[in-house]
Amino acid sequence: MKSSRRQFMILSATTLAVATTGQALAADPMVAETEPQAIGLGYKADTTKVDATKYPKHNAKQNCGNCMLYKGGAAAGGCQIFAGKQVAAKGWCSAYAAKA
Ligand code: SF4
Repeated sequence: MKSSRRQFMILSATTLAVATTGQALAADPMVAETEPQAIGLGYKADTTKVDATKYPKHNAKQNCGNCMLYKGGAAAGGCQIFAGKQVAAKGWCSAYAAKA
């Protein structure tokens, strides 16, 4: 197998694994609060900055780090909602679902 084909196959397998699990790669960019999807979901990198008037059911104990859709570590990581990007562990969006 030629090197470029081999590299393509490895990259494809990695991409598929990431897409399937929602895990982000360390090189994946952080979600910006100004992105249309982030705005639509009220995403904030700091859960204490969430608009309480717009999201009255939100509380500061809710964050990506304890969300069922979070696939990251202590500081940041993947989220099944924001494919190919990382969210802050201390962040929050309106798709929040508490871990069981
Ligand atoms: S779905 Fe969960 S992990 Fe993803 S951004 Fe929203 S609160 Fe964070």
